[in-house]
Amino acid sequence: MKHVILGNGPAGVIAAETIRKRSPEDEIVMIGSEDVPPYSRMAIPYLLMGDIQESGTYLRKDQNHFAKLKIEQLHGKVKSLDCKTKQLIFAEEENKPLAFDKLLIATGSVPVQPPIPGINLPGVHSCWTLEDARAIEQLAKPGSRVLQMGAGFIGCIILEALASRKLELTVVEMGNRMVPRMMTEVAGGMIKQWVQSKGVEVFTDTRVQEITQSGSALNVKLSNGKTLEVDLVISATGVKPNIQFLNHSGLEIETGVLVNQHMQTSHPDIYAAGDIAEGIDFSTGHRIVNAIQPNAAEQARIAGISMTGGEAQSLGTMQINVLDTLGLISSSFGLWSGAKGGDHVELVDREDFKYVRLEFLGDVLVGATTVGATDHIGVLRGLIQSKTALGEWKEHLLNNPTQTMEAYLAKAQAQSAWMN
Ligand SMILES: Cc1cc2nc3c(=O)[nH]c(=O)nc-3n(C[C@H](O)[C@H](O)[C@H](O)COP(=O)(O)OP(=O)(O)OC[C@H]3O[C@@H](n4cnc5c(N)ncnc54)[C@H](O)[C@@H]3O)c2cc1C
Repeated sequence: MKHVILGNGPAGVIAAETIRKRSPEDEIVMIGSEDVPPYSRMAIPYLLMGDIQESGTYLRKDQNHFAKLKIEQLHGKVKSLDCKTKQLIFAEEENKPLAFDKLLIATGSVPVQPPIPGINLPGVHSCWTLEDARAIEQLAKPGSRVLQMGAGFIGCIILEALASRKLELTVVEMGNRMVPRMMTEVAGGMIKQWVQSKGVEVFTDTRVQEITQSGSALNVKLSNGKTLEVDLVISATGVKPNIQFLNHSGLEIETGVLVNQHMQTSHPDIYAAGDIAEGIDFSTGHRIVNAIQPNAAEQARIAGISMTGGEAQSLGTMQINVLDTLGLISSSFGLWSGAKGGDHVELVDREDFKYVRLEFLGDVLVGATTVGATDHIGVLRGLIQSKTALGEWKEHLLNNPTQTMEAYLAKAQAQSAWMN
């Protein structure tokens, strides 16, 4: 049996290792298009902060790790998939078409490129690959003027790394708050206030309209009437599944590659996992692409088991967002923006940057958002994931939403069969 793993990020690596564990004799080929060993994008901020070298981002530290596991690594960029003949076609001539018995597509996401004049100028970079990180390191020197376009998940994560480089930093976000797709209005507003208090200029409700070259600098025209001269623009306006090369494959694709609970696509021998896969949302039952690393790891494990004939299935992917924005921890889980017919409680302490909002449907906690509260966020996740019937504890939480641990001990532990 020949397993081909397309993509060597966290999803590809975990799937390859899972397959090897279960099938010592099967052939495994893992393909990556970047000219570096398999690495974790999550580690890029630590690289930019100078806490680690590039080798610190590598997913497996032993350079013989994959050889020892008899996982063949192939460097190349796949340009198309032929589902009928079960072959991958490469962009490079020296790479011949590669046949497979089972295929995992784990090609992750690509950054969204907003259609802004000047977006392709030198000095404008995404922060997605190690190559991007190298370019940013070159331009983001102490005192440099940097404009970050977008204050979403990745934007907030890299803020700390950028701030640590002693830059003059401006953040421009078209939404009315920071992290608008992951945080409530109050939470996103508090994060903005926090970031401003750390000396970062933040414009919300503002778009970048045009970027032009001005000598060695860039002029960035904003929709609020201002034009800023900067040395570097970082584009962090979101990511989307890397599906373009699958356009004529015949696989069922919506936003990402559609998968069932076994991570199987519309073709029985082809699976998908990680940022590219569109699975089922645990909270809504609707389809969702959940582009976070824990989801990639879990889907890859399920795919690896399924590809080797085992029984594993996803109960649905849950939205779990935990962010450290210049030292302020925020989180959102499940249906954090509320459920139809549900109710909520909100506790706001703007002075101390503390915030809790709980969303209920009946007596079940279905979503939560927190800022500055790190103590019991694992409990929030547990309560939501276990769909615990809170009974009288719902009323207690409506009166005091910080009592989640007490509610968990009283109710979820008693119903903890889901955890076993
Ligand atoms: C700066 C940054 C910080 C992040 N921080 C966090 C965080 O704190 N928490 C979190 O949960 N997530 C974080 N993420 C997101 C996380 O990195 C992704 O969810 C995760 O990498 C998804 O893993 P994946 O294996 O699906 O895809 P990827 O890691 O993107 O790997 C895909 C691989 O496929 C290869 N590939 C793509 N196309 C082709 C092709 N055509 N041919 C051959 N190979 C191809 C790519 O080169 C790549 O190696 C962060 C991302 C970034 C950029």
